[in-house]
Amino acid sequence: MTLWIKNPLAIHAPGDAGGGLVVAEGKILATVPSGGQPEAPVAAVFDASEHVVLPGLVNTHHHFYQTLTRAHPAAINKELFPWLTALYPIWERLDPESFRLAVRLALTELLLSGCTTAADHHYVYPAGLEEAVDIEVEEARALGMRLTVSRGSMNLSKKDGGLPPDGVVQDEDTILADCERVLQRYHDPAPSALIQVALSPCSPFSVTRSLMTESARLAEAYDCRLHTHLAETHDETRYCEAHYGLRPLDLLEEVGWLGPRTWLAHGIHFSAEEIRRLGAQSVGISHCPTSNAVLASGFCQTRELEAAEAPLGLGVDGSASNDSSNLMEGLRHALMVNRLHYGSASAVSHLDVLRWATEGSSACLGRTGLGRIEAGAEADLALYKLEELRFSGSHDPLAALVLCGATRADRVMVAGRWRVEAGRPSGLDEAELMRLHRAAARRFA
Ligand code: ZN
Repeated sequence: MTLWIKNPLAIHAPGDAGGGLVVAEGKILATVPSGGQPEAPVAAVFDASEHVVLPGLVNTHHHFYQTLTRAHPAAINKELFPWLTALYPIWERLDPESFRLAVRLALTELLLSGCTTAADHHYVYPAGLEEAVDIEVEEARALGMRLTVSRGSMNLSKKDGGLPPDGVVQDEDTILADCERVLQRYHDPAPSALIQVALSPCSPFSVTRSLMTESARLAEAYDCRLHTHLAETHDETRYCEAHYGLRPLDLLEEVGWLGPRTWLAHGIHFSAEEIRRLGAQSVGISHCPTSNAVLASGFCQTRELEAAEAPLGLGVDGSASNDSSNLMEGLRHALMVNRLHYGSASAVSHLDVLRWATEGSSACLGRTGLGRIEAGAEADLALYKLEELRFSGSHDPLAALVLCGATRADRVMVAGRWRVEAGRPSGLDEAELMRLHRAAARRFA
């Protein structure tokens, strides 16, 4: 069945696609020029004259479980290390039921903001939560979203010189065995895959060198991506220098991670020479402007990274440091913090942040068929109406999405199927989800 998404109010696509696009069998069959018609007859037409059409947004960094500890009094107004040490013991209470609701809520929140592909980095494994990846896959499938589920890990607790307490870490053998299990069970390396698995030891201060090296070896064997937090804070740089005698990027290189399989969360505190090395090896960076501002971590050098040809995408980061999971809001924050950082209103435009959240994020995840509206790409789309007070009087519809602050899509399509219609997620009771999630979050007070 072919569907013509006809004559959009505006569309973010290369070339003239003013007449919209045709979708068939989960893919974009063709774009249609302004005033044109599809080349072959279509089975159905969707009038998009009130919609701004974007490629589905791609989120490159998140921790879904953290939706249970937003605006937590133990953690607000703290920077990363004290923020983490306040929250680790609270996260030890995670159990499969509350985790499932956290995943469902985070995915739904992302989807409603126009996100069609999410990467989640789950690294907290208290006893009883061994099937976290399985739960994430079930929930993403139920909502129809694409997911890169990043099997995170921590094996360096306080007693061994790390930051986390014993109750949230696992030993290396257990971690690697589960990485293999979930890779065999869920990883589909095809570009059109709905589910992919990545391996994600958490950070230099919570994992051993050996776990990093072995994860890289597994990623090579299973053709999957590697992800970790790096260069987020000065505390992390000092930790690496004190414990390893290396800067974070040198440590990453030593454990065999400096290559095109890797994308890094934050990537803030790099020297010019380190940025050159990242670009030369095509290491992706997930820019998380909201979290970086909330935790006062610093500025990601987006222009320098792009100039060095490092893939650059956007991430909302965990919902305890953002504290929301709204990717459209993240685009607006990216525009603002980058203009502030570079001291120039022309340094970063709405088109730059749209590129980061679509093509750039897709490149970080190694998902080449996503993030563009063109023939042959996956039919993942986000459609917004400009009918709220905040848009009234706006002139450039694409710029208005970012500058006036769109937060909610009216329609979202993943793999050719509508997953949000009239601003509501298909087949999911939002109020009921909120009621259950709120009740679960009380355990983490
Ligand atoms: Zn993170």
